[in-house]
Amino acid sequence: MLRAAPSGAFFMRGPALTEPDMVIDATRPYDENNVFARILRGELPCRKVHEDEHVLAFHDINPMAPVHILVIPKGAYVSWDDFSERGSEAEIAALVRAVGKIARDQGLVAPGYRLLANVGLAGGQEVPHLHVHIFGGGPLGPMLARR
Ligand code: AMP
Repeated sequence: MLRAAPSGAFFMRGPALTEPDMVIDATRPYDENNVFARILRGELPCRKVHEDEHVLAFHDINPMAPVHILVIPKGAYVSWDDFSERGSEAEIAALVRAVGKIARDQGLVAPGYRLLANVGLAGGQEVPHLHVHIFGGGPLGPMLARR
């Protein structure tokens, strides 16, 4: 659900730590049945934005900003931690290049945008397949809600 702050800025849903049932332990082995693995296998649909040999990107099903795109590696990596340790140079370069290209293609560079990769329990990660969020299309508000 997209929510607009009184200032007109778009911002994240409530702190992830208030939803402990939904977050995942990023130290667990890769779960082949996670929702993004199913999208990669074509078992579930997505609104594709970009695809190349190593990367798929699609619109988030529950956008938190006017533009909210998820960029994922095609390989089976739980999180940024897993990917940065086991990913090949080609996979890592492809993901980084794809994030930049998608942001440019979406016209997000001049107005500005935000990248986010949640990792594990404290990070509020819900889907146990690495994904980089691209947020844009309007003011995004503060980086994190102050406690
Ligand atoms: P995170 O909390 O960083 O793990 O974010 C997971 C994101 O995946 C959330 O923003 C969800 O809205 C999004 N999501 C979950 N299922 C789908 C789906 N089938 N297609 C697109 N986005 C999804």
